[in-house]
Amino acid sequence: MSSGGSPAESDTWKELLRGLVRLELKRGCQDDAAVGGFARLALATVKDSCTPAQHVAEQGVTNELRSLLVDYQFLPKRERTDRCSALLALLGSSTPWAAGSPLQGSASATCAPPSPKPVSDSMNALLEVLEKPVSTLWGVGPRVQEVMAKLGVASIADLLQHAPKGYLDLRYPTEVSRESLGQMVLIKARLQSVTEIRRKVLLVKATARDPGGRVFHLVWFNNRFVRGRLQAGHDYDFYGRLENSFEGAQLMQPAFEESGTPAAQLHMNRIVPLYHLTSGVTQKGLRSHMWRAAGRIPSVAAEYLPRDVASRFQLPDLAWSYRSLHFPTDENEAERARGRFAFDSLFLFELRVLMRRHVEQDVLGTPFDLPAGTVERYAGVLPFVPTASQTAAMRDIEGDVRRPKQMHRLLHGDVGSGKTAVAGYAAYAAKVAGYQSAVLSPTEILAGQTGRVLQEMLAPVGVRVATLTGGMTKSQRRSILSAVATGEVDCLVGTHAILEEGVAFERLGLSVVDEQHRFGVAQRVALGTKGNQPHSLVMSATPIPRTLALTIYGDLDISELLEKPPGRFPIQTHLLTAAKRDSAYAMVRREIARGRQAFVVVPAIDPAMDEGAGTASVEETMKELTTGSLKGLRIASLHGRMKSSEKEATMDAFRLGSLDALIATTVVEVGVDVPNASVMVIEDAERFGLATLHQLRGRVGRGSSVSHCMLIQGNATADGTERLQVLVNSDDGFQIAEEDLKLRGPGDILGTVQHGYDVPLFGSTALLTYRDLSALPEIRKAASELLEHDPALAAPEHMDLARMLSLRYPASKPGMEDN
Ligand code: ADP
Ligand code: MG
Repeated sequence: MSSGGSPAESDTWKELLRGLVRLELKRGCQDDAAVGGFARLALATVKDSCTPAQHVAEQGVTNELRSLLVDYQFLPKRERTDRCSALLALLGSSTPWAAGSPLQGSASATCAPPSPKPVSDSMNALLEVLEKPVSTLWGVGPRVQEVMAKLGVASIADLLQHAPKGYLDLRYPTEVSRESLGQMVLIKARLQSVTEIRRKVLLVKATARDPGGRVFHLVWFNNRFVRGRLQAGHDYDFYGRLENSFEGAQLMQPAFEESGTPAAQLHMNRIVPLYHLTSGVTQKGLRSHMWRAAGRIPSVAAEYLPRDVASRFQLPDLAWSYRSLHFPTDENEAERARGRFAFDSLFLFELRVLMRRHVEQDVLGTPFDLPAGTVERYAGVLPFVPTASQTAAMRDIEGDVRRPKQMHRLLHGDVGSGKTAVAGYAAYAAKVAGYQSAVLSPTEILAGQTGRVLQEMLAPVGVRVATLTGGMTKSQRRSILSAVATGEVDCLVGTHAILEEGVAFERLGLSVVDEQHRFGVAQRVALGTKGNQPHSLVMSATPIPRTLALTIYGDLDISELLEKPPGRFPIQTHLLTAAKRDSAYAMVRREIARGRQAFVVVPAIDPAMDEGAGTASVEETMKELTTGSLKGLRIASLHGRMKSSEKEATMDAFRLGSLDALIATTVVEVGVDVPNASVMVIEDAERFGLATLHQLRGRVGRGSSVSHCMLIQGNATADGTERLQVLVNSDDGFQIAEEDLKLRGPGDILGTVQHGYDVPLFGSTALLTYRDLSALPEIRKAASELLEHDPALAAPEHMDLARMLSLRYPASKPGMEDN
């Protein structure tokens, strides 16, 4: 039963298998329905797939049968029963998705553009598979579903979109030789002997003979499962590092599968995909699920994109790409498939963003009636001359709020570029037009600070500013709330406390969200409901390259603050190894002696945190510094787990100069402005992203003398040094972001940069490489052209596209929440 696909023949082996399964069930699933194990014989019964003449449906069935049997012998009894019923169900039916459709060409090479006729049908079949929940895959019960949910996987599309982070090429077995010593190798060998030795550790030792007749040793430590899976006289595929031991060549802790089994075909003898995991799932486990999912993908070409888009970007076929992304036959295939999905994720994202933009542009808003010269009047009372970009941003806002459409504007500018002053203008404009404004800050510390700054700026032009934080007494809160409700307060600054139900405005006309990436969708929506379509200004210092900003914030109008206010001294950044720590603290002492202040930033709050042993924590660093390098100075700690009143008190003390140094976590990252602070030490700097480090160091250098940032690399690696060196060399947030993007790939960055709107970022960002982004402008153009003709994707020829889009951005899945 090796090949062929005639119905008669197929029925024979299926009949045989059905009988076997029934017997196994009858005998209580002991895996003994056949000599040598039920599963083993059953597997042998399932015939080879991938014969060109075979039907698509047939191939899917065979794959699935195999995957059900592969690990049968290791399952507990209850699951075996389930498997048997599954097997029977499968044997009784043909799969609905491709019943009767012949395979076009060979399964692995269907890369050709889709032929015009069957396209829609095949896409429909593909979509039906993709839309199914993962729970429809065999082996995905409630527990696995939970694990998958942690990976963001709900549908089969989600699962297949979970791209490999890399591949292992296990196509070519080698034999034991001098050259292969020290290498990771795949060796096919017959097991000669195996022994288990229980000492302090459980040791399994074995010998095997490779095809060339060379005998070598194998060893495993502390693996209870190895012994039971090995049997002398059987052939195995071993993969591990070959080392020279005193007994001769020895394979260390190899992974293995019995030769010729489906498991060996899946986990060895191919280009094997490796995935990002989460607890509760192993590489092998996830790979098996992928295999089953990929097995469901019809083997006919399918495409949901308009033909001109697919051909313009030279995209390989979609069904082919799904299979080849996970189980490529060579590197080239894997890369082509990855490129396909990278395109898809960018294209769908652009579509989504642009569709949203269409909708938002139509939302009516309250036009502000502003007399000419409001920008000038406001600028006149500022304690400084606004920069050209600040003025331009204020003009943008002025233009927006005058129109009867809701403003959706992003103010994007590096740390210290002066966004607060621009926000102040927006609040002023609202006041002039007779409306209230609300300013939302991500932390208590920032809310307090922004409230104070705005109060100073706006009091001279008659804007009454109040600050609402979580740490207030009931009566303080009550009096502010009533002032807001009666319109005695013009501008309310606060944390998400201002989103709470009890907070009612008299006439809210404008909202400002500072550091918007810190907020989720729900919060922004809540703010929108406080007024009648208030104009919206969001601000972000997230240093991302412009091409990317345009994409992520594609639904907003953007004003950028390009230059920093004049009169600043650059921050000198130094990179030190742990051995040079003392010199960093000597610098801190020097600055403090000159009357300045210092920040010390560490990655963890207390030593027990999951950052791992050896990571600097607030607690330990505090202890160490107060008894060592910074002994005798006034030091306090600041972190997110403190009560807000404590945080505020500490921050106030620091601002007023009654503390010399703050030992803090990244709570000081955003926006904190203490001009007298002139030095920052960052411990274990390699643990932070470049963008975070750049934001952190923006906390110093706000005064008018040279400031220093000392990056201490706790765990020095060449890569880490290269990355941190970017900060030493550049003070331009955008350039740093660009470098970061090159070094880490966009996935990482986009994963941490949150949009804050309801458009989730690209989905499977692991797929994207820096190079893919160069096509963004063109992709955006293609998406926008498409929408021009069919803004709601309602045309029949866009039906598949609309389905794919809602698969990617399901209505029930809100935008990703941050942190
Ligand atoms: P960010 O954009 O990071 O929110 P801020 O609004 O906190 O920056 O401004 C940083 C500092 O720069 C503040 O101390 C502010 O007073 C000052 N600043 C803002 N604009 C100007 C300007 N045009 N000239 C001089 N100083 C300015
Ligand atoms: Mg700010």
